[in-house]
Amino acid sequence: MIGSAYRALPIVPHPTLSLPMISKRTQVGIVGAGPAGLLLARLLHRHSIESVILENRSRDYIEQRVRAGVLEQGTVDLLIAAGVGERLQKEGLVHHGIELRFGGAGHRIDLTRLSGGKSITVYGQQEVVKDLIKARLAACGELVFEVESVTLHDIESSAPRILFRSNGEEVELYCDAIAGCDGFHGVCRPSIPAGAFSIFERAYPFAWLGILAQDPPTRDELIYAYHERGFALYSMRSPQVTRLYLQVTPDEDLAAWPDERIWQELHARLEADSAWSLREGPILERGVTGMRSFVVEPMQHGRLFLAGDAAHIVPPTGAKGMNLAIADVFVLSQALREFFGSGRADLLDAYSQTCLRRVWRAEHFSWWMTSMLHRFPEDAFQQKLQRSQLDYVVSSRAAATSLAENYVGLPLARRLQPAEEIDEATTQLRPLPSIKEVLWNSDIA
Ligand SMILES: Cc1cc2nc3c(=O)[nH]c(=O)nc-3n(C[C@H](O)[C@H](O)[C@H](O)COP(=O)(O)OP(=O)(O)OC[C@H]3O[C@@H](n4cnc5c(N)ncnc54)[C@H](O)[C@@H]3O)c2cc1C
Repeated sequence: MIGSAYRALPIVPHPTLSLPMISKRTQVGIVGAGPAGLLLARLLHRHSIESVILENRSRDYIEQRVRAGVLEQGTVDLLIAAGVGERLQKEGLVHHGIELRFGGAGHRIDLTRLSGGKSITVYGQQEVVKDLIKARLAACGELVFEVESVTLHDIESSAPRILFRSNGEEVELYCDAIAGCDGFHGVCRPSIPAGAFSIFERAYPFAWLGILAQDPPTRDELIYAYHERGFALYSMRSPQVTRLYLQVTPDEDLAAWPDERIWQELHARLEADSAWSLREGPILERGVTGMRSFVVEPMQHGRLFLAGDAAHIVPPTGAKGMNLAIADVFVLSQALREFFGSGRADLLDAYSQTCLRRVWRAEHFSWWMTSMLHRFPEDAFQQKLQRSQLDYVVSSRAAATSLAENYVGLPLARRLQPAEEIDEATTQLRPLPSIKEVLWNSDIA
């Protein structure tokens, strides 16, 4: 356990075990130290709101866990405003475009020009996690690793509790609110009574085989390749490490993919007829990730608020998973600030509704990118549609603008726009409040 500032209450007997139980209290109990839980704690700390983060893995494990790596403009702005952007600004790779490759040719989508000056930054999720953990510990915030047997109680009351075991001790943590930031397989979502929520989901008939290769990237931007052998993605995590993905079947056996087969397939799908050739390097890590769309509604029940993968999953094609998690906790931190600061509960009550508008936009974009770029088994009609859509995206400014606007990320708080406000002269939507404006108005910095 790290840190000990949370308030200890008297030791009471555990209701079901004979062990004595330590009772403690905090304002917000956070389950999960992924990007959502860690950033929420950071934002709350900036508003002088006390929290305790409970994580069932070790620090070393979560700092090494390689997952997402594309940060939207709004995510970058928020991390900087929260005081955890120093290394990100030094080491992050700023990209102004992506390439769509199909039919033997590459087509660049100029994200920055089409989105009014925004960009994306490539910076590994594990680096974001490291920066947030460092900041949390420097601020002497509570962050308990390797907790066991986490359960939630009384979430419909104004004094919800989290029970867990840490270092052989049974602990009961009283909270005013609980943030469920424990990912898709966590315990928070299943703590909501059946019938109190609805699930919307879609499965895809493919998965991604991802590798990390120890080799400096030889391209400056990501390549999304639509190919008759299946989708492939050329990406990177740092100036020394390349990240590559191949479309495979959902039940793919990694043992059937020795290094030579992986490289052979990547060459075939990514190089097409272009002059550029993929450079091979030692494979550091490999894994198969399933593809799924999933949303739970509402994202709250009583005093439990779900954020990030605990509430929704997107297929990774649109690079939205971590960005959505970060947008959720921004909204939650604002609502909790009002709740603790002025007693206003309306923002907390509206938390799910506020988040879901943005969540569904990202769900649609991720589904759309996935459907356009992957090979669906034996579906010639779908293939014709995909080629038509790809041709349209690279030849129509309107279509390319839509892709760019979604890819760089929409503002964290977005107002609905009446149809008559759409500027007919340019066929583009009038600028919505930018993230900087939202942040500035929200007093985070
Ligand atoms: C295997 C995998 C690969 C991915 N790859 C990509 C990718 O290539 N590109 C992309 O754009 N997105 C990717 N994503 C999506 C992206 O990484 C997630 O959207 C992002 O991690 C969401 O952050 P989060 O904080 O909500 O959840 P998480 O990062 O999952 O964090 C949840 C935390 O809760 C902890 N936890 C779980 N259960 C408990 C418990 N009972 N008690 C205490 N703690 C608990 C977990 O250990 C974890 O640290 C991937 C996701 C996964 C799962």
